[in-house]
Amino acid sequence: MAEQLRPLIAGNWKMNGLKPSLAELDAMIAGAGNVTADLLVCPPAILIAAAAARASGTRVAIGGQDCHADASGAHTGDVSAEMLTDAGASAVILGHSERRTDHGETDAIVRAKAQAAWRAGLTAVVCIGETQAERDSGKAKDVVGRQLAGSVPDGAAATNLVIAYEPVWAIGTGRTPTNPEIEEIHGFIRSKLDQNLKEHGARVRILYGGSVKPSNAAEILKLRAVNGALVGGASLKASDFLAIAAACS
Ligand code: PEP
Repeated sequence: MAEQLRPLIAGNWKMNGLKPSLAELDAMIAGAGNVTADLLVCPPAILIAAAAARASGTRVAIGGQDCHADASGAHTGDVSAEMLTDAGASAVILGHSERRTDHGETDAIVRAKAQAAWRAGLTAVVCIGETQAERDSGKAKDVVGRQLAGSVPDGAAATNLVIAYEPVWAIGTGRTPTNPEIEEIHGFIRSKLDQNLKEHGARVRILYGGSVKPSNAAEILKLRAVNGALVGGASLKASDFLAIAAACS
């Protein structure tokens, strides 16, 4: 039977939040005491340093939403993994479907970014997931398997990697896969991790992401194959985020 891993609830604020939004982070920190899951909040890059200062020494870790593969250089507007670490982040989301679509990020680019994250001491939260058309044509596992193989560098382990399975059609739509559908893909990802990472594979957390909210969190998080959630919209409000985290226990 699969090992029970400590769940991780990660919040992706996307391009949402101004300085006053850090009050929500404060409320998350204040409410995190009774939560058994690990908590990670990924605000926009410009808020990371302030968020990390507030979260320092608390149960809430702070992460970025992307990084460049290079440590520094002529890349206007980009943020390096070293800059995220310097700002106080301990993790970074990579290969989110919005970046794959909006910025043309390929698996090879995501892989290079994951290497950069490790170089800077960050945990890479690598996102994979199929579109509706890919699911409809029976290709969900092919797509997820290809993204996993292409996006995760050699040297992955539970200490530096988290996988987020996020079916693109479930992100921000209010729609979620059925429990058996989630279990099927998570089981497939776990088998690939076991194959590729040998003894490390069993300890890498696999999060589900896509329209997780307080009303469906318990149903999804009770699945043994699910080791936590990557939460978008519902991570903007402390009460929702904490309710999702509470559903882990
Ligand atoms: C996401 O973008 O990672 C996500 C899961 O979004 P939402 O929870 O809003 O569907």
